[in-house]
Amino acid sequence: MADYQCPRCNGPVSRGGTGAVSRHFGLVGALIGLAFAGFACGKCGSIPRSEFPDEVRAKMGRNSVFMVVGAIAVFIAAIAVVVALN
Ligand SMILES: [Zn+2]
Repeated sequence: MADYQCPRCNGPVSRGGTGAVSRHFGLVGALIGLAFAGFACGKCGSIPRSEFPDEVRAKMGRNSVFMVVGAIAVFIAAIAVVVALN
């Protein structure tokens, strides 16, 4: 997944905390969980979005949209498969 630069220490920041949602809803839940998860730096812990520069926040927003769209596409494909098999 996309990595970002920590605004405090310039270290790598990753999306974190997919948690319970992904366990219950598989790939769709994992994608949606990632889309809405916070960001965590290995050294500084979780970083609020407001600490990142505007351009980075815009990129995060776009990536979140892609992940939600991807999750919806997977969901629709799964329904199409079930319908086709019936
Ligand atoms: Zn950091």
